[in-house]
Amino acid sequence: MNVLVLNSGSSSIKYQLFEARDARVLTVGTIEKIGEPGGRFVQHLCAPDGTMRDSERLLSVADARAGYALIVEALKQCGALHGDADLFGIGHRVVHGGKFEDPALIDDAVISEIRAMIPLAPLHNGPNLAGIEIARELFPRVPQVAVFDTAFHQTMPPRAFTYPLPREIRDAHHIRRYGFHGTSHSFVARQAAAYLQRPLESLKLITLHLGNGASAAAIQHGASIDTSMGMTPLEGLMMGTRCGDLDPEIPTYLMRVAGLSYAEVEKMLNSASGLKGLCGVNDMREVERLAASGNADAELALEIFCYRVKKYIGAYLAALGGADAIVFTAGIGEHSATVRARSCRGLERLGIVLDDTRNRASSHGINEIQAESTDTNRVKILVIPTNEELELLRLTVDCINARSKP
Ligand code: ADP
Repeated sequence: MNVLVLNSGSSSIKYQLFEARDARVLTVGTIEKIGEPGGRFVQHLCAPDGTMRDSERLLSVADARAGYALIVEALKQCGALHGDADLFGIGHRVVHGGKFEDPALIDDAVISEIRAMIPLAPLHNGPNLAGIEIARELFPRVPQVAVFDTAFHQTMPPRAFTYPLPREIRDAHHIRRYGFHGTSHSFVARQAAAYLQRPLESLKLITLHLGNGASAAAIQHGASIDTSMGMTPLEGLMMGTRCGDLDPEIPTYLMRVAGLSYAEVEKMLNSASGLKGLCGVNDMREVERLAASGNADAELALEIFCYRVKKYIGAYLAALGGADAIVFTAGIGEHSATVRARSCRGLERLGIVLDDTRNRASSHGINEIQAESTDTNRVKILVIPTNEELELLRLTVDCINARSKP
């Protein structure tokens, strides 16, 4: 039986079809630029012998519904899917899960709750919900599961999730820290425990998901006790186009003094800040290239990015009372030796000592990049590739199986 994992964004749909029993990937695909000119549909078919057959089509896709029709047609055409009966379940990534602590089997009540959280994450939950509704129409007999980016962080204690604002305002508007990238933080934490051959419950971990969006998490006894993103994915580390931590007076100041509208400020903070705001580009490879060629703006952008990662490492060492391992993951965390080195530089007295050769040599799979030492207080520094789809598969299967248990 197969499981389809879906990630419906505002202008893209990503999907993976898995063989549920052995988590083998059967098909991976993406539709980009939905509702815009220059749409693109890419699908990779993975044969049992490991070979891939790729197809790419350039076409305009009017909306998510048209996108889903294309995906179903392509899956049927290549023989990966024949109908409802082939599917054990469908797992949907949902960015904002409010107070959901676990993945939820989707029914009308769950849909209403996801809809109620649209104001908290308008760019994400709206498209996520549209994808769920279309998939339910297309596969009415297949169990579907919502896996929330926020759920993993529901274990944070009140001191970590409460904003110091008046209670009536917090209560009336669901204002608290929720945290995001939960599937990635939980996936790499489990991977780290397996790699270190230690029970996850016995470890103190700092996980750093550094992609276009970036967040840090402090994990103790297998549970998140703090994370850098807050009520929305804007708080915390500096990101590709998002500012991260900021004096909360700045937005109101800009509206008051510079005459910017609410919409202009929101757009600036989310889409024109971070690396892009500092040096004009948000791709870290490009930032590093520019910095290496002497561009002072890019150098400052790189320095701020790493300085902020370092500050969160320090904060979470304090929150956890030390750490067994720091995990770097996602596009930048997995691939940028420069960011890893600069983020750890100067933390030697805290037991964080990176080995430059190992760091530069880090390649496929899990890599250990701390300096060799007999000191048991040394913190392991690991590079672990994230795989949010695989975590979605696991959580979807577990959720459906739990329901069928008496
Ligand atoms: P997201 O899923 O949040 O869109 P990813 O996890 O794919 O993001 O990470 C995207 C980021 O990873 C981009 O900033 C990209 O520049 C960066 N990245 C990918 N490969 C490298 C590399 N070799 N060196 C530095 N940065 C890299």
